[in-house]
Amino acid sequence: MHHVNVVERPSLGRCLEASMKVSAGEILVLEAPLFVSAPVDDMGRLAEQLFKTAFAKPSDLPLVTQLFISILAEIVKGHKASVLSRLSQLRGHPEQWRQTVGQLHESLREEHVSKVEHDELLDLYSKLAANAHETDDKRAAIYSMGSLAEHSCRPSAFKHVHGDAHELMIRALTDLEMGDVVSLAYIPEYYPTWHRQELLRSFNFQCHCPRCAGEEAEVACAFVCPDCASPCCPPRPCLSRGDFEALVCEECGCRVEDAEQLQAFRDAELCERLCESCTPHLHPYHFKIFQMYLGNLQMVSPEQRLDILEQLEDAHGRLGNRVHPLHAKFEELAARSLQALSLGTGNAEASAEARAEAVSAARASWERAAALYALTHGEEAEQSRHCQQQAAMLDGPAPALPESSE
Ligand SMILES: [Zn+2]
Ligand SMILES: [Zn+2]
Ligand SMILES: [Zn+2]
Repeated sequence: MHHVNVVERPSLGRCLEASMKVSAGEILVLEAPLFVSAPVDDMGRLAEQLFKTAFAKPSDLPLVTQLFISILAEIVKGHKASVLSRLSQLRGHPEQWRQTVGQLHESLREEHVSKVEHDELLDLYSKLAANAHETDDKRAAIYSMGSLAEHSCRPSAFKHVHGDAHELMIRALTDLEMGDVVSLAYIPEYYPTWHRQELLRSFNFQCHCPRCAGEEAEVACAFVCPDCASPCCPPRPCLSRGDFEALVCEECGCRVEDAEQLQAFRDAELCERLCESCTPHLHPYHFKIFQMYLGNLQMVSPEQRLDILEQLEDAHGRLGNRVHPLHAKFEELAARSLQALSLGTGNAEASAEARAEAVSAARASWERAAALYALTHGEEAEQSRHCQQQAAMLDGPAPALPESSE
């Protein structure tokens, strides 16, 4: 099932656009894989059939190589024409893989050498490297439509691979008009432009999204406004670290142009660690603080975690989209923390009222998480069902007080 068209655009090349009006949360693409890599337990046997030289440990092979081996096994069985034609739509970057594929081709068993040309293998490997997706069960799969979606640092859609059939599902994160480009984020979005572009280079992507190519404020580089302490950001995308000539406050609108002040902010951004001298300048919405909190969520108390989650949600929401898998995750973690806190009110001092309130806050949070997951992953997805179940378990009367031990 597809609500997309494959089109050729002068600026983007081949891409997907919505073939009809679609609301946030609706399915744009649902497709079965062209190929899935063989189970990892079969890798050793397949590799041995194909190659003279043994691989140290087949289960350690990169997923792309596992997929390559699985498909190559089909090719040497005599299915070359059908295999290659199924992949003919896809594109890759062969120049990067010349050496890898050269070695693989060299080590092919004698009886297979005549069955496939070196250049065909290079073409195959580079297509897989550029387009393979990792599945839930740690295999690699390749899709036709799913590989054509554009990258954007403000994606209009989200993809995930689900179920035993490894179907790829792409859902809209925003309302789309017919003809709007369907884009996915291939990297985490909460970074400044220069860092996103560094990450994208490894995918051979050049991003033309408004955050990269437009005139948007660099909201992930937020400093503390000298006048009102609100986030104060470069008014244009930063193409290198600390690359800004002025900052504009999101709240009071003041413009920071003082050379000394700007240098202090630049130094804070360039500082390698989060230390006493840089942190006072960095707003909690600054990407360095954001990433630090994101990495430390499990190490703090439930109360602190709730505060941090709210901050992360606010920061990330400034990118323009709260229907987002990361926001669903934030809400799920908040629900978990609220639930832990509601159990904490099970002691004798807490009033029945306080307990009921804590439980109902946790339930509401699970419900919000379930609703968000339903939009990003679908109602039937594992994540949504888990949150629905948690909410349902908190329905009904508050848990009874534990018996006093005295
Ligand atoms: Zn971009
Ligand atoms: Zn201000
Ligand atoms: Zn520092």
